Amino acid sequence: MKRVTALGLLLVAAASCSSGSSDSTPTSVATIATTLAPTSTVPFTPGAPGVGDVYYPGLGNGGYDVQHYGLELTYDADGSVEADAAITAVATQNLSGFNLDFVGWEIDELTVDGSEVTFLRDGDELVITHRIPSGEHFKIELSYGGTPQPMQSAAIPIAIGWLAGPEGEQFVVAEPDAAHSWFPSNDHPTDKATFTFSITVPAGFMGAANGELTDVISSETTTTYHWSMDAPMAPYLATVVIGDGWELVEDPGSTETAGLQIRNMLPADLVGDAPVALAQTGEMINVLEEAFGPYPFDQYGIAVVDGFQHALENQTLSLFGRTMVEAPFFEYVHVHELAHQWFGNSVSVAQWSDIWLNEGFATFAELLWIEHLFGAEAYREEVANRTEVTRIAEYGPPATPPPNDLFNGSVYQRGALVLVALREEIGDDAFFATLRTYAERYADGNATTDNFIAVAEETSGHDLTDLFATWLYGQELPR
Ligand SMILES: [Zn+2]
Repeated sequence: MKRVTALGLLLVAAASCSSGSSDSTPTSVATIATTLAPTSTVPFTPGAPGVGDVYYPGLGNGGYDVQHYGLELTYDADGSVEADAAITAVATQNLSGFNLDFVGWEIDELTVDGSEVTFLRDGDELVITHRIPSGEHFKIELSYGGTPQPMQSAAIPIAIGWLAGPEGEQFVVAEPDAAHSWFPSNDHPTDKATFTFSITVPAGFMGAANGELTDVISSETTTTYHWSMDAPMAPYLATVVIGDGWELVEDPGSTETAGLQIRNMLPADLVGDAPVALAQTGEMINVLEEAFGPYPFDQYGIAVVDGFQHALENQTLSLFGRTMVEAPFFEYVHVHELAHQWFGNSVSVAQWSDIWLNEGFATFAELLWIEHLFGAEAYREEVANRTEVTRIAEYGPPATPPPNDLFNGSVYQRGALVLVALREEIGDDAFFATLRTYAERYADGNATTDNFIAVAEETSGHDLTDLFATWLYGQELPR
């Protein structure tokens, strides 16, 4: 979802009207809009099969902008899923057809604005033939089903997507390129949209997703959980977590401290016995708000599963493997994933190659938490430790990670040291003003490394060309 200008809104309204859809815009508006944009003279061509990501050119698609994903999933205890996806989008060119990213699954039905359309599947691309004038709203509806299968990521050497744990729990790990392995999508962070989820599970199961739990409807044999993510979200941050006996547990202490709803989805044995650091969520939000500005969403919490060794910052509901939560360093991973809600989720990368903007910033938040708990001297000691580790590991430049090893150590550790160096160079006032300005200016959107550098130079009044050239792009870690 991109910000739409007043003119864009007018054209959208007019196009909906002329197509005879539910919009009841007066004809006079349509007449004005047609005068402004004679779309009939522009040829109808297929939308591009990729959005222009330098590292992963097949991701995302051109020619339209998704506004909303409505996902209805019915999970059966045998592991199968039946799904209905309703995607509303706006054409950004005269389209003769367009692609969605989608792999796996059996498609039962596919319509655009209620009409069956011609489509073919080509690898990860779902190629749809349908004529849509520029500016027109349209709705794609897909019914599909099967047993979820992970897919091989192009960016990391493991299979990701919809995964299952040893207790039968189901969860999604989609960064960076696996959203389209569980729902048809414009799978790139530059096309954010709002989401609703309806998750039907066998009675006794919990089904969670991003945002707010808006309704729970129970029958004798099933329960349906309705979730709504009202803030724009990149497809890779959409999640579903399903578990037999899992519970959604409110954290009233953190909710009170942070002033927003904190809830966690926990397996039964952790409900009354969660790690102490989990109750620090509210305090962490306050510390990060001080550094980064207001928390960008209305909820936060984590979901804990077995069968996953890592953590992932799904929007408003980070996913944690149990081993992470039970590890002595859990609180640092906890503050790291929380920091991603600002840097990664609200401000997302425009190119995956800029992943240090996510990981360097979230890793830097670990240092801020240490400084909060133990003071400035402890911060400096931790910086020294991590500098040493980074030097020994001989990490390459953080701004140019290998495309097949996107999440290497450099984007985390050298990425964080870029911010440490910037803080030393421009001082605390300008440094934190830079972080807050950057978080605010690109909230609910996307940014590039150059965008961040521009904010830092503008806020500090310094020429930072040399600093960023050496810290971000230099082969050697600067002294
Ligand atoms: Zn991270």
